Amino acid sequence: MASGLKYFVGNWKMFGIPTSFKILNRINSNFVKNKINKENYKVIIAPPFTLLHDYSKRFKNKKILISAQNCFHKDNFGPHTGNISPYMIKKLGIKFVIIGHSESRASGENDNIIKEKVYLALKNNLNIIFCIGENIKDKRRKKTLIVLRKQLTKVLKRNYNFKKIIIAYEPVWSIGSGKIPTANSLIHITAFLKKFVKKQFKLSHLPKILYGGSVDKKNIASFKSISDLDGFLIGGASKSSKNFIDIIKNFYK
Ligand code: PEP
Repeated sequence: MASGLKYFVGNWKMFGIPTSFKILNRINSNFVKNKINKENYKVIIAPPFTLLHDYSKRFKNKKILISAQNCFHKDNFGPHTGNISPYMIKKLGIKFVIIGHSESRASGENDNIIKEKVYLALKNNLNIIFCIGENIKDKRRKKTLIVLRKQLTKVLKRNYNFKKIIIAYEPVWSIGSGKIPTANSLIHITAFLKKFVKKQFKLSHLPKILYGGSVDKKNIASFKSISDLDGFLIGGASKSSKNFIDIIKNFYK
């Protein structure tokens, strides 16, 4: 059953305009009214870059934490049109950044670029939600664990502060498709990730592992039995306050 600190991370992707803060207000007032705050969990929402400055001020000292959806693989300032460095994110007061999302990987990010991003994000004291996951071809060829191992070892290093790294297992075939892994395969993969990361990077504690891919208010109950999971990365369903609140409510019901 659900125990320990859980994370509910919303990834808005290319969604949101300034007035969309009302969605977050509604989620936040649910905490304030004590409706869904009996359990030990954190809510992190990643709006697009255009809203980070405004939302980081609006939700300062609120239960909701704000995350960036990505960062550039060069730091500080420089001739990189259209890009945002980890330093610029930190200076907004933002504490989290998603790195390695499969949609960013699909638009050209490789492990070397992701490695730089992780390094620079940590240098700027940001917490990282590091996404990994196999595509449908890898899954059919039963290569899931090999792919995950490679994505982890190409990017992470032993001397990193793993307290600042949350791993999000997001099978690419599950994102936005309505398909989710079976409970058995998720139990197996989550246990593998915990054990592998602890051993490989010589951690004294188990790493935090989230699941992401088509999580919604109807299927969230099916994840309750996976005790190794530390939470969820939620895309589509995070754009509606009702859906997002219902996910949390149904998880703890
Ligand atoms: C995501 O974008 O990380 C994600 C999990 O999306 P969705 O929930 O829409 O599948």
